[in-house]
Amino acid sequence: MKIQGLAAKTKGSQLEAYSYESPSPENFQCLIKVLACGICHSDIHMIDNDWGISNYPIIPGHEVIGEVVEIGSQVHHIKVGDRVGVGWQRTACLSCRDCLRGNENLCNDIQALIATGPGGFADYLEMDSRFAFPIPDGIKTNVAGPLLCGGITVYSALRYAGMGSGLEIGIIGVGGLGHLNLAWRPSVLPMGGNASFNCKLHRLYVKM
Ligand SMILES: [Zn+2]
Ligand SMILES: [Zn+2]
Repeated sequence: MKIQGLAAKTKGSQLEAYSYESPSPENFQCLIKVLACGICHSDIHMIDNDWGISNYPIIPGHEVIGEVVEIGSQVHHIKVGDRVGVGWQRTACLSCRDCLRGNENLCNDIQALIATGPGGFADYLEMDSRFAFPIPDGIKTNVAGPLLCGGITVYSALRYAGMGSGLEIGIIGVGGLGHLNLAWRPSVLPMGGNASFNCKLHRLYVKM
């Protein structure tokens, strides 16, 4: 099928309409109808080729929320009609030591969504279903996207630090990632940076 997206055709250029052909999903692949997609500064880094890994034309977008519309024969954990989220990873080998420990982000064969193919600024996205995660009904589509990149990044840090209920933590610098931490843990204290901004932000999230 033909997928319509928005792409930067050269380094640092504006996004323009761009379409590409995508085959029907096979094996573990799935096709997702994009409902919403967040924007992350890594999208800008990739458009500008700041990391030297960009392939143009590049369709950014790695905070994708969408509906599964087609699945390959090996896909069992999600089904057509499910609402799923996709983050930075398109796929990984799933058999190396890091993958088997659940650290697929450290896999030598990791494929980043927007470095190895088109991302979510498009009407559809095809990728490895094993990196598409069901989104609970209680989370709205239009706010879920950032959880797939900034959200998982801070959640992972909390988890690896052994955080549990009753413990207090501080966040140094409340930016794109840190504010998500405040959003779901009002007991977290913002530290550093602009103190009065931090206080206002903290009061806001405690009220929520
Ligand atoms: Zn990101
Ligand atoms: Zn691996």
